[in-house]
Amino acid sequence: MTYGDSLGIVWDERFREISFSHPMIRDVSKSRIVRFRELVSTLNVYFISPKPATYEDLLEVHDESLLRKIKEVSSLPYIGFLDSGDTVHYPGMFDDILLVAGSTLTAIFMSRFFDSIYIPLGGFHHATRSRSMGFCPINDVNLAISRLMKMGERVALVDVDAHHANGVEEMFYDKPVLKINIFAYDGKFFPGTGDYRRRGKGEGTGYNFNVGLPLGSADDSFQEALRLLDVVEDFKPSVLLVVAGVDGHKDDGLKSLNLTTNSFNLLGLKVSRLARRVNARIISFGGGGYGPGSAPSMFSFVKGLMGNRSEDEMPTQDEEKKAYVKKLVDLLLERLPSSLE
Ligand SMILES: [Zn+2]
Repeated sequence: MTYGDSLGIVWDERFREISFSHPMIRDVSKSRIVRFRELVSTLNVYFISPKPATYEDLLEVHDESLLRKIKEVSSLPYIGFLDSGDTVHYPGMFDDILLVAGSTLTAIFMSRFFDSIYIPLGGFHHATRSRSMGFCPINDVNLAISRLMKMGERVALVDVDAHHANGVEEMFYDKPVLKINIFAYDGKFFPGTGDYRRRGKGEGTGYNFNVGLPLGSADDSFQEALRLLDVVEDFKPSVLLVVAGVDGHKDDGLKSLNLTTNSFNLLGLKVSRLARRVNARIISFGGGGYGPGSAPSMFSFVKGLMGNRSEDEMPTQDEEKKAYVKKLVDLLLERLPSSLE
């Protein structure tokens, strides 16, 4: 059942009802998953049922104190917050967390049968070992990286989202996992991390790349940032993880970047071609997305993964921002360690 541009989508009907976002945008965040499911039914994809993770699986990347706390509040009969006001808890939430984390593990297990796997409800990259934050009670990306490393895989992560993947950077800053982050940045925009000078330490020196796009950056800047994919090619991963967050779309409710669906299609196309050249499997995540452009952007990304080019919206441009991003990418490309081995 493999070969060609085969795509597996991890899907459970419960995904329609799961959101860890702020109560103000929970409905938007749920409806994009529902809409995506409708759109994707027109494609020739395989649906994979996730097996829930266990408490022990989560202990691999989280402190027991955090897990105990989430489990506890998940039995309360009301909705509240896990952090200072972003990430909700609600009755029965812990089971949803196990399903989300299990989706990652199922994707790892099934990835040998597909060119690419996509988990629409995944990419909770803000949570740290001990703390839930930014709509992320736990960190499924960290679980994926940790598990793959234990299996002896060579792991690269391309994390595209309006928000910097602070939780991943923190856990793997000193590990030889290649991390390319493309996000909106002005030093204050959530979560505030993502300085380009943060290049890793110890065994992870030279493996951390932060491409902070100025707020309002357009498709042309995003395209510049994707030049960093050359680094992934040099690294020759056996598994390429891609967080394809779509909250940088121009119509997103959290207003950050000015991207169109074309950028997400280009991302899908480029990573799938790259993975084929280096013979890597792709496991990708839906990431953030809080607006009417979210589901179409996810759909465009998935079409790109399958090798289909689509230009659905008028591309956006901003020469000035693009010039800045070009400089930043040039700077980062020059600062590659002499050997990635
Ligand atoms: Zn985000």
